Amino acid sequence: MRLSRYFIPVTKDVSSDEKMIASHKLMMQTGMMRQNAAGIYSWLPLGFKVLKKIEQIVREEMDRAGAIEMLMPTLQSADLWRESGRYDAYGPEMLRITDRHDRGLLYGPTNEEMITDIFRTYVKSYKQLPLNLYHQQWKFRDEVRPRFGVMRGREFYMKDAYSFDLDEASARVSYQKMFAAYLNTFNRLGVTAIPMQADPGPIGGDLSHEFLVLADSGESEVYCDKAVLDVPPPGEGFDFEDHDALIEEMEKRTKFYAATDEKHDEAAYAAIPADRQVKARGIEVGHIFYFGTKYSDPMKAEVQTKEGELTAIHGGSYGIGVSRLVGAIIEASHDENGIIWPDEVAPFGAGIISMKPDAEDCAAVADDVYAKLTAAGKDPLYDETSDRAGPKFGRMELIGLPWQVTVGPRGVKNGVVELKRRATGEKEDVSVEAAIARITES
Ligand code: ATP
Ligand code: MG
Repeated sequence: MRLSRYFIPVTKDVSSDEKMIASHKLMMQTGMMRQNAAGIYSWLPLGFKVLKKIEQIVREEMDRAGAIEMLMPTLQSADLWRESGRYDAYGPEMLRITDRHDRGLLYGPTNEEMITDIFRTYVKSYKQLPLNLYHQQWKFRDEVRPRFGVMRGREFYMKDAYSFDLDEASARVSYQKMFAAYLNTFNRLGVTAIPMQADPGPIGGDLSHEFLVLADSGESEVYCDKAVLDVPPPGEGFDFEDHDALIEEMEKRTKFYAATDEKHDEAAYAAIPADRQVKARGIEVGHIFYFGTKYSDPMKAEVQTKEGELTAIHGGSYGIGVSRLVGAIIEASHDENGIIWPDEVAPFGAGIISMKPDAEDCAAVADDVYAKLTAAGKDPLYDETSDRAGPKFGRMELIGLPWQVTVGPRGVKNGVVELKRRATGEKEDVSVEAAIARITES
């Protein structure tokens, strides 16, 4: 993409609000999004690209774990929520709407009721189980204090998956698959998200985990054993048919103490050796949950067993805050100059700075780099504007693409360009070919 033909409304001064956290400020400065109302945002081209990249990684990892994608609407019927009893229970976070025929609607804050209704309509036999359906869709929660930009919005983008099983034992396997899928997903997104014991809700048990990215600006206070942070990342991912391996992985990651303030047990924490006690702050980026027959009982989502009896299915739900992740990744990965995008979610694979776009030899080399990186599928952002060098460098640092290629007159004379890795700041003068090779290898 040629910067001169693109739309990145970079603005240096965003707000004097001192409470504005780094990711919010950086997203405003780089023109990734625009607030339209409290907690409601337009995703401008740069932000939208990142959102779509995260969405795609989440999709690939859900698919790999055997979940099936679909799409449910944002608006839901109030009657459905009356069946589960949540229409009254949910409280003022739910945006209730009345249509012209005086029928009650709501902007969905989550989709358990709707997916249970779909399930009960079509699935009647144990033979059709297990089943895991998911979608990625906008949600609305009328948060009292929308803040931190997209991290606590009112309208936000969520991946939510729903599993259906015949009994608890089978539901546990579905849960373990999602647990592993989450490890894969966050690993690919370039963030360390730690699973923590979460409030199990009405039925108790141990099957509820929140995944938190540690960051000073996080809203949750977290307490954990340092050993949790030292568990190595999952690597290439899991074989989802190998249940023993999935169980082992989950045990490996949950055997040490890790909890948010809501679930914190001071005595258990005190029992950890003092040099391993970690108290930090975290951002909740995912939440997985087994809730048994909470919805299938009142909504009569039943299937026939092998023996011919009707039984309520056992359900679980699995959320990922896709739009919140954009902010969380920036919180975890930035410096005083701007964002440092992990390779997999970067809006562009590399930035090219043409220092003298009106000098023919310089422009020719920069055009060549642009053509080659484009052909290599690296989707580069090409700054061929006539802005001064300082602002050009500053802008590229701020946007934070993984690689920067600078084409200047002196280098061109010597047959080299400057290659810079944003994350480390390392710079090197190399030939165009070598620069392309390094970038395409990453
Ligand atoms: P929180 O405790 O942060 O309010 P929650 O526990 O109410 O979140 P869940 O119902 O577990 O949220 O939703 C699944 C995921 O959706 C969360 O883990 C989070 O990443 C994301 N999410 C929830 N609320 C918001 C919001 N207001 N803005 C952006 N993302 C959100
Ligand atoms: Mg939650």
